[in-house]
Amino acid sequence: MGLTDFITQSPSAYHTSATVARTLTECGFAAQLELDPWDPSPGGHFVQRDGAIIAYRLPAKRVAEPRFRIIGTHTDSAGFKLKPNPQHYSAGWAQAGMEVYGSPAVHSWVDREFGLAGRVVSKTGEQRLISTEAWLRIPGLAPHLDPDLSLDRQRHLMPIYALADSLPLMQALAEGADLTPEDIVGHDLFAYITQPPELIGLDKTWLASGRLDNLVSVYTGMQALMEADPELGAIPVLACLDHEEVGSGSLSGAGGPFLEQVLARIELGLGLARDQVYRLRARSAAVSVDAGHAVHPNFADRHDPDARPLLGGGPMVKVNAGQRYVTDGVGVARWQGICDSLEVPVQTFVSNNAVSCGSTIGPLLAARLGIATLDVGIPVLSMHSARELCATADVDHLATALTGFLAQ
Ligand code: ZN
Repeated sequence: MGLTDFITQSPSAYHTSATVARTLTECGFAAQLELDPWDPSPGGHFVQRDGAIIAYRLPAKRVAEPRFRIIGTHTDSAGFKLKPNPQHYSAGWAQAGMEVYGSPAVHSWVDREFGLAGRVVSKTGEQRLISTEAWLRIPGLAPHLDPDLSLDRQRHLMPIYALADSLPLMQALAEGADLTPEDIVGHDLFAYITQPPELIGLDKTWLASGRLDNLVSVYTGMQALMEADPELGAIPVLACLDHEEVGSGSLSGAGGPFLEQVLARIELGLGLARDQVYRLRARSAAVSVDAGHAVHPNFADRHDPDARPLLGGGPMVKVNAGQRYVTDGVGVARWQGICDSLEVPVQTFVSNNAVSCGSTIGPLLAARLGIATLDVGIPVLSMHSARELCATADVDHLATALTGFLAQ
């Protein structure tokens, strides 16, 4: 599956988890349910938890000194989440109440078509993934009516979906999924841009799309995992975790115990004593893969004057003295070595001191697991926009570099 198909088939974190599971199943990976006894047999396995999925490959031969090579990413994207009782009417319009999820560039969502995607949950706890067509749009205000408008996040961002005499939203969602409104007791539904990804620019080498942050990382991580050879001594692990855009503190986020629990069960499955577990972790390494900022031509002063990542210049290694990114000198050398050996160009990201730095799951992986971690990712222009921009060359280079990381 190509990247654009992957993005199209993954409109929400729940769908992303399902897309990864489906793709890996086709490659012979087996589903491991958390409720079931652990299956330590050789080959590919994956565990799903809500909008997250962790996949790994176990070797057929017993390795004397096993180690983990972990790729960590996130499945969620900044945007909007449907409120529990979303029905709203105003001035003859039917609208959907939505919470702001993470830090979307809200202006970029105005006058764009979007659908709802995620899961609905019945009274019995049965979950079903649904996604709608382009039902919704946040209507912009003509400049004549308020030339100095600044958008209020409660009053000005509520999308319309019909006129007030139309079907209530929950009823429309239920009918679209062949359910009754009573069937839908709970839901986790997110806005997703329905405009398909498109190659743009003079040379058609840039990809414009929603959710590049962070589906590019999930996609390239999945490619690397499928190519990895667990017989070389490293146990390759791909951890696609949820809720990064809101701080990762959840059952399925990097701040939660999901990854740690899966690693512990792999270690138990290998029959390792406690000291062997600590030695395994000391031999292990993780890479946190997340989109980073390309230099912006109109706001170049927001970047460090000597770190100017460009689209197509190669994946970035991200450094921050305050440990918002945890790559240290050893990590930089490790990443540079992998990339040099595979002829992958490297760019460095470090913040302008006067501009606040973003963060990602790298610090959480390092702090929770006690495993050396580095932060990397492709440069993206317009991060957290409804329509982000990256270079396809960087996607290919990232997949190559991650394959090299898993083979170390
Ligand atoms: Zn991200």
